[in-house]
Amino acid sequence: MLDKVLTHILGLLQDDPPPKLDKDLVLIPKLCTIHNELLSIRKIFSSMKHNERVLQERETHLQYLANHDPLTGAINRRAFMERAYIEIEKNVRNHVPCGVVMMDIDFFKKFNDTHGHIAGDKALRHLVRVISASMRKHDFLGRYGGEEFIFFFSNADKKTGIAIAERFRKVLETSPVRLETGPVSMTVSFGVASVDDEDTGNGINEKFMEKLINRADQALYQAKNSGRNKVVSFDEIESAESCSRNAT
Ligand code: GH3
Ligand code: MG
Ligand code: MG
Repeated sequence: MLDKVLTHILGLLQDDPPPKLDKDLVLIPKLCTIHNELLSIRKIFSSMKHNERVLQERETHLQYLANHDPLTGAINRRAFMERAYIEIEKNVRNHVPCGVVMMDIDFFKKFNDTHGHIAGDKALRHLVRVISASMRKHDFLGRYGGEEFIFFFSNADKKTGIAIAERFRKVLETSPVRLETGPVSMTVSFGVASVDDEDTGNGINEKFMEKLINRADQALYQAKNSGRNKVVSFDEIESAESCSRNAT
C-alpha cells in the first residue's frame, strides 16, 4: 500500500495529466489533502509558466517594434547601424571586403503630390519588397529616414558592390508600383562606399562608421546631381577629383 501511495505522490509531482485517486487511496484522508494541495501547486506553476511565455512573447514583439520601421518592415536606422558595426568589425578582422549603399527615391515629393501620400507609402513598401527579394541572405537593408534607405553588403569588393547597386537600380526601374489607378514607374539613385576604400588602421569606431556613410552620401549626392536613376561610387568621385587636381 505504501508503495502505491508513494507512486501516486510521485505521479502528482511528475505526470501530465496528474493521476486520479484510486478508490482505495480515497480512503486515506491525509493522502486526499496532499493530493489536493499538489494539484493546487501544479495549477500555480502552470499559470506561472503561461505568464512567462506571454512575457517572453511581449518582449520579442517589443524588440521587433524597437528595431523595425512600422511602415515598410525594414530594420530602422539604429538597428542597421548596430548590425553594420558588428558586421564591419568582423569582416575587417577576417579581411573580407564589404560596404554600404545609400539609396534615395528620385523626385519622391512629386510622386506624393501626383499620386497621394498613401500611394507614396505603397512605393516605399514596394522598394523594400523588391530589394529584399533580390538581395543575398547575409546582406541587409535598413530605412535610413524618409525615402532614403541604406544597404550593407559583405563578401563583395568595390566592383561587386557597384554591380549589386546596379542590379537593384535596374530591377526597381523595371518593376512599377501597382496603384489602384494603374502601374507607376519609380527610379532610385545610389551611392556606394566600400570598406576597402577606408583606412581601417585605427579600428572600427563611430568615427569610422560616420566616415563610411558620409562617403556613400557624397556618392549619392553625385548620382542625384548627374541625372538621377544611377549608381555612383565614392571611388569615382575621388579619382575624378584627383584627376582635376592633377590637371591644374
Ligand atoms: P530627389 O530626387 O532630389 O531625392 O527629390 P525628392 O523629391 O525625392 O526629395 P525631397 O527631399 O524634396 O522629398 C522627399 C519626399 O519624401 C518628401 C516627403 O514627403 C516624402 N516622404 C518622406 N517620408 C515619407 C513617408 O513615410 N511616406 C510618404 N508617402 N512620403 C514620404
Ligand atoms: Mg531624400
Ligand atoms: Mg528623394
